[in-house]
Amino acid sequence: MCVKACAYCGSAGPLTKDHVWPECFLERTGRRAAHFSHQSGRVHGADYVVQDVCETCNNVSLSPLDDYFCRLYDEYFAHAHGFGAVVTFCFDYHFLVRSLLKIAYNSARSAGSDDSYLRELRSYIRDGSSVPRQLAVFAELVSPTLVKETGAPGGMRAQLPENFYRSAITQLFTPNGSRVCTRIVAVGSYYFHLTFPAAPMADSAFDEAANELGTHIDGVVQVTSTMNEITLHSSSQDAISSIVPHIQQHHDAYRTFFDRRDS
Ligand SMILES: [Zn+2]
Repeated sequence: MCVKACAYCGSAGPLTKDHVWPECFLERTGRRAAHFSHQSGRVHGADYVVQDVCETCNNVSLSPLDDYFCRLYDEYFAHAHGFGAVVTFCFDYHFLVRSLLKIAYNSARSAGSDDSYLRELRSYIRDGSSVPRQLAVFAELVSPTLVKETGAPGGMRAQLPENFYRSAITQLFTPNGSRVCTRIVAVGSYYFHLTFPAAPMADSAFDEAANELGTHIDGVVQVTSTMNEITLHSSSQDAISSIVPHIQQHHDAYRTFFDRRDS
């Protein structure tokens, strides 16, 4: 028999339902997102949830992370930026990183994808203990997407990434990119790139591979535990182009969802 245990502390529970994205955040965004399910091949509008978090972790240990994420949302993420923006982003490193890791860990379990490298960090996420040496976090302020529009200057309009959020696996195509696992947690104009070791390795080898992300993606700034403020300049990437291939591939599923939702 398979005995379920809390994904964060390993206790037998009682286990509760936890939102992948903080509920305070979903309330702010109005729950308008479209979620693609790899299992069913369909698009749905229901909240992503996991059901393997004990009451204590959910209500005591992890809820301050949700509160912190929503404070950042109110102050920063809710405001999508145009071209050439410069933002001074102030943060508490451990609260920021733990709240991003919680979203990444919950979404990996919810999607049924590999969560081993996030599971390793569950004590750090839960209570800030066991601070990982091999974890690199980079922040990026992405640009709007240019979309064709008749009548707009030059026939193009800048589409801001409003109400856009995403937690996903990414891939780093650099000489040592295959030695690390990378994910993004993106909200509005803000992209956070998380880098983890793909297998046990020396600190120097991890740093070398992680640093490649910093030089490969134009405009990213590494966030470290000694910092509480960084300056972000709009990067050359935009939020939406990166998901266009996915939308095109599953166009019919999205069309069906939006037709039904908006009818
Ligand atoms: Zn627990």
